Amino acid sequence: MVIAVDGPAASGKGTIARALAAHFGLPHMDTGSLYRAVGLAVLRAGGDPADAALAAKCARMLDVTALDDPALRESATARAASVISAHPEVRAALLECQRGFARQPGGAVLDGRDIGTVIAPDADIKIFVTASLEVRARRRQAETPERDLAVVHANLAERDARDSGRDAAPLRQAEDAILLDTSAMDREAAIARAIALAEARLAEKTALR
Ligand code: C5P
Repeated sequence: MVIAVDGPAASGKGTIARALAAHFGLPHMDTGSLYRAVGLAVLRAGGDPADAALAAKCARMLDVTALDDPALRESATARAASVISAHPEVRAALLECQRGFARQPGGAVLDGRDIGTVIAPDADIKIFVTASLEVRARRRQAETPERDLAVVHANLAERDARDSGRDAAPLRQAEDAILLDTSAMDREAAIARAIALAEARLAEKTALR
């Protein structure tokens, strides 16, 4: 069983994907961390994330087993990730490791921006998680309270625009994805709703077989 969870930054998709993975006993891949690792490698090489050749080289050299650097969560890394992820060469270099993860026996849960549309278009369950920009900015700021809300809001808006507006695998809801708006939900409610939606979709599919 493959579960695709997509959505914008701070929508709750990572939390939901991890909860679905635990619920169904499946391995989970946070694909955003791959793009963040490439963005961080470009920054550490002193390069410009807009440099497609350098970013593609960093993507091809990426060690996908070493994605626990705390610097991956920094906002400068997130920004670099959203710039390098628009280069088709970077996306191509990261495609196989994501598809391979999705194809493993027993299945998997992957979260990102293009899982339901590009990485696993045949996923059994697709959930598109979203929330209003205001709610997402407040959530992100709660993680790092020293940051100014207006700056967090502007950074997210910039990243949303870049992720949705790019030509290569833009962020969008797959036609067969279930929409889950978590704006008015706390963490527990969002997880419970996602599990209920996934179980319902699974029951529907089983009944059709
Ligand atoms: O999900 P997260 O915020 O960690 O993703 C960081 C950036 O990586 C996103 O803003 C997006 O540009 C990029 N990304 C992507 N495709 C994915 C996952 C992340 O383009 N499947």
